[in-house]
Amino acid sequence: MRREMPGRYWRNLPETRLIPQLVAGAEARVRAMAEQVPLPAPAFHDRLRSRDSLPFQTLSETPEDLAAKIRTCTACPLHCAATQAVVGEGPVDAQIMVVGEQPGDQEDLVGRPFVGPAGQVLQETLEKVGVDRRALYLTNAVKHFRFRLQGRRRIHQSPDEAHVAACRPWLEQEIALVRPKLIVSLGATALKALDGPGRAMAERRGTLWTAGEGENAVQRLALAHPSWLLRLGDSTQGEIERGRFEEGLARLQDFCGRPDA
Ligand code: SF4
Repeated sequence: MRREMPGRYWRNLPETRLIPQLVAGAEARVRAMAEQVPLPAPAFHDRLRSRDSLPFQTLSETPEDLAAKIRTCTACPLHCAATQAVVGEGPVDAQIMVVGEQPGDQEDLVGRPFVGPAGQVLQETLEKVGVDRRALYLTNAVKHFRFRLQGRRRIHQSPDEAHVAACRPWLEQEIALVRPKLIVSLGATALKALDGPGRAMAERRGTLWTAGEGENAVQRLALAHPSWLLRLGDSTQGEIERGRFEEGLARLQDFCGRPDA
């Protein structure tokens, strides 16, 4: 506006009275407009029904190949607002795969899984029970960060079932590549991504079971998500749940042994 007309003339224009009010409400208006932009939901759901149009038809041969495909995935709307896809990391021959829900704010910025506050809880608990994080393959059920804006803050929003379903083929490909002996799901979303919506978290938490048959059989363990433990804080329930989480992670020792001293 200053380029079009020097500021000294503004006071002569009746419209300029509106400028402070317009500036003050700009952020809320932009947010409201963004919410009104129709998400490509019908197309997205149609594409889920027609798997032929999804970019998952060829199995990836290497983790690099798979990571490159995930980074360019546009199969659901979550890629629009996130900074980048966060792909799994860890040894391709890892005995244990840990699956979380989705990247958080810091993971989205850094591009690595479990590097934020929840990842810190995981790391500390693994150290406590003598399991080396570097021996694990860490990933998420959904590869892009879902959030809502509150001012400038990005507030975590759990992915919908449709996002989980759209992203599931990538998780399947990670499992096919790594072929872990044990898959640990952290939180209800990861459990549903692996087992479908029928499996209640309460029924499975802390127990070890076998999924699949023959050469596809894999041990499974369901634990709480460390971000939930953070939300429970120092409450009595928080203390109980941290103990259960620790007990659960201690079971990983049987699959990967203790780290080098
Ligand atoms: S969340 Fe998953 S399915 Fe959706 S765009 Fe990202 S990688 Fe693709």
